[in-house]
Amino acid sequence: MTKFATESTISSQLQEKYEAVIGLEVHAQLLTKSKIFCGCSTQFGDSPNSNTCPVCLGLPGTLPILNKRAVEMGVRAALALNCQVHEHSRFDRKNYFYPDLPKGYQISQYHLPLATGGWIEIVQDGKTKRIGITRLHLEEDAGKSLHDGFLQSAEKTYVDFNRCGTPLSEIVSEPDLRTSDEAYAYLTTLRQILLYTGVSDCNMEEGSLRCDANVSIRLRGAKEFGTKVEVKNLNSFRYLAKALEFEIARHIFVVESGGRILQETRLWNQAAGRTETMRSKEKAHDYRYFPEPDLLPVHVSAGWQNEVRLALPELPSAKRERFVAAFGITPYDAEVLADSQSLANYFEAVVQAGAPGKAAANWIQTELLRRLNDSGKEIVSSPVSPAALSELVSLVESGKITAAVGKKVFAIMFESARPASEIVAAEGLGAQVSDAAIEAAAREVIAKNPENLAKFKAGNEGVFKFFVGQVMRATKGQANPQSVNDIVRKLLS
Ligand SMILES: [Zn+2]
Repeated sequence: MTKFATESTISSQLQEKYEAVIGLEVHAQLLTKSKIFCGCSTQFGDSPNSNTCPVCLGLPGTLPILNKRAVEMGVRAALALNCQVHEHSRFDRKNYFYPDLPKGYQISQYHLPLATGGWIEIVQDGKTKRIGITRLHLEEDAGKSLHDGFLQSAEKTYVDFNRCGTPLSEIVSEPDLRTSDEAYAYLTTLRQILLYTGVSDCNMEEGSLRCDANVSIRLRGAKEFGTKVEVKNLNSFRYLAKALEFEIARHIFVVESGGRILQETRLWNQAAGRTETMRSKEKAHDYRYFPEPDLLPVHVSAGWQNEVRLALPELPSAKRERFVAAFGITPYDAEVLADSQSLANYFEAVVQAGAPGKAAANWIQTELLRRLNDSGKEIVSSPVSPAALSELVSLVESGKITAAVGKKVFAIMFESARPASEIVAAEGLGAQVSDAAIEAAAREVIAKNPENLAKFKAGNEGVFKFFVGQVMRATKGQANPQSVNDIVRKLLS
């Protein structure tokens, strides 16, 4: 088999000559308690085949009943993605045989999807790009084949039908993405919106968010598309980026060697670090779609759509803009703080409790997020409440304690969940060093460093910082930095 080049072996000249055209198909599991066409639970991790009934097992004579909540979630996602939700949509049967599909067909929306014509904006290096969303439709998930972990796994494949009938929304992008970085940014942005709106938990490990990519290349500036290849099995953000980079390089290599790209479906093999042929176009399924006769067409009235729209939360981009405008923080800070709804809520609660926006943003990003990360905790289980952090920030901002002492106090707060004022009083940290003590320390530092004093006298302003730092150290970080600055300046001049 031909050994394909990797991106690093494709010269930058060749990478300049071609551009990639990428579209993503994302399956997001809708966060309902029960399945899309029956009352079985969607709980992840239950013992195999415990959440099944005659409907999702596809037994003869059973009829599906559409879960209204699943449609509502789909409408919610579609509106958040700026799609047009259609008043009338319909389910079709997608016919194929597979052991994990007991009915022999999947119920999916094909001819008349729930929503079309949306977009989201991705931001990269400060530049915004709009990526079109072709369609969002509803469908049921299939079961899962289990190839190992059971008594006779060596000879047999086991099937778990718990997933069968789990509601999914398939979100198909326009082929607007040009690099693996853009694809990564698109998936990140899409995931954030789905999380904000609560339509999916987007848990990739549990299969709640899955991604396939369509990739082709063309000469830069060309209008027509090259032959596209579908890449499946992109089970993490990292795999997506790596698989796309590999695939783009492979296409360039094949075309430059005078070859032809075959239209096919490929799988990402993470262990081997390459994509591999899964099936060619010749073997592609003919799904023989036809309208599902057991379900009525889906009707989403204007009134219902409006209700769902009114219940949408503030979306990430709007929140970032508001944070910058209302709290005077930088766009970068806003991006970090609006990363998740819960972190954004925490930040706003700190500010509402009285802390200035900029200071609150700094404390959260430097001290809180670092310690949460180190201890493997989520923001919702932070041992320091927003009100407690606000109190600490106020103590520092008002000059009652220094920033250095504040950090020590924060460390104790994080471990003990005690309030800042109590820690300051108990540890005697509040007594800031008197001006007389600062002056004494400063005189000593200056006396010990005649060479630096001479440099300063000769006009080297940079040495000033050295003296301030030494005095701060001598006073164990408890002196007011402004007082130290003033006193050192007075003594040196
Ligand atoms: Zn069922």
